[in-house]
Amino acid sequence: MTVQQEAGSGIVTGEDLEVWIDQDLCTGDGICAQYAPEVFELDIDGLAYVKSADDELLQDPGAVTPVPLPLLVDVVASAKECPGDCIHVRRISDSVEVYGPDAE
Ligand code: SF4
Repeated sequence: MTVQQEAGSGIVTGEDLEVWIDQDLCTGDGICAQYAPEVFELDIDGLAYVKSADDELLQDPGAVTPVPLPLLVDVVASAKECPGDCIHVRRISDSVEVYGPDAE
């Protein structure tokens, strides 16, 4: 599969990615939900969770959802800005984290 680099963004595309949140570290500030409300939402417990492709809030801690390519920049920005360092973006093919606290 060809890996492409989006001009100026430093974001590598071309591989299917997924994202999950470690709720144990979430501060509940809601930055992720501001950047990418299609992917992240605060639940009534005050913590952020990911949403499914059909907009359903996935309330299981550590639930995983695919990253829609048009939203990749916003999801990566969320991971970079997340004060809890708890947004993890990884490749679906081998589960290697590409953005987030465990990315190399
Ligand atoms: S940006 Fe991080 S710490 Fe803030 S609500 Fe989202 S997941 Fe939680």
